[in-house]
Amino acid sequence: MPAQVIVVGSYVQDQTWLVERFPQVGETLRAHGFNTGPGGKGFNQAIACTRQGAAVTFIGAIGNDALGGIAQHIAKNENLPCRWQIRNDQPTAAAGITVNARGENQIAISLGANEHLDADFVRAQADIFASARVLLLQMENNLDALAAALDLCTQHGLLRVWNPAPVHADLDLALLRRADIITPNETEFALLLQRFGNTKIDPANLAQQNDATLHALARQLGIATVVITLGAHGSFVSHGENQRGDSDACYRIAPESVHAIDTTGAGDAFSGALVAALVLFRERPFRDAIRHANRVAALSTEIVGAAPAMPNYAAVIARFG
Ligand code: ADP
Repeated sequence: MPAQVIVVGSYVQDQTWLVERFPQVGETLRAHGFNTGPGGKGFNQAIACTRQGAAVTFIGAIGNDALGGIAQHIAKNENLPCRWQIRNDQPTAAAGITVNARGENQIAISLGANEHLDADFVRAQADIFASARVLLLQMENNLDALAAALDLCTQHGLLRVWNPAPVHADLDLALLRRADIITPNETEFALLLQRFGNTKIDPANLAQQNDATLHALARQLGIATVVITLGAHGSFVSHGENQRGDSDACYRIAPESVHAIDTTGAGDAFSGALVAALVLFRERPFRDAIRHANRVAALSTEIVGAAPAMPNYAAVIARFG
């Protein structure tokens, strides 16, 4: 089946050590547990999207190394078609995560090959853009590669959804405005406003603001649709001229009530599921896709981990109808 959704994004091999306490400088400390699995915002979002039943192709870069082999193996097991740029000069990205007995973490990450995804490699994948409907991006790659993907969308008429996470140091507003929809969390939204709207806001207070205030703040960015994820407070939508079938220019979708134990990857679950719903729900209003994204993201918090915690469509329907 040709791809409906293309995710151009990052792959990171997460390696997690469970320790009683964090090691001191120079100390070697025995961990009482270890696990490793796929991560990276791009790959997480591709998994979330494919598990909702959308036909997804992932485009990303890995090294010609053992972790790169694991990445390919995991994607095959997930039935996720990938176009990998396998680089000889860069390692597959990896994150070292230590979690102490209190559940606090320390993370060191090397983005490795993700930062060297060639724009030319992206351009060489034009064949799949010809039939796809939506592009989903994040910001763990170099901006040239992402701009190349946006160019292909212009040529082939794809909807462009951009999760601006983490906000790239070199991002400029003209590039961000090429997105039709952005999905920042509270921190990312505050950062974008500070950089491009010259407004300083405290992300911790964002969910308490009224809808008119949030809408006015979101409009400062000049992006067609801004979706702010508000963690345990659900999400907020602000449309410009194109309301995408919604009756309101702005509104909130309340959070689903779940027993959250690990919110890692909730934002990735949200963006991946939103894009899946946009292609699967077709003519339904945008609000329905946001509600679905809220549900998928909420369920993902009930399981530890990022990609492995993404629920499938059947699990979402079983829980919420
Ligand atoms: P990020 O992981 O990028 O920081 P958020 O924390 O904003 O993203 O979470 C993304 C979405 O996940 C939220 O919009 C919400 O739908 C859902 N979510 C997150 N935490 C909870 C929670 N405790 N209860 C219910 N839903 C949650």
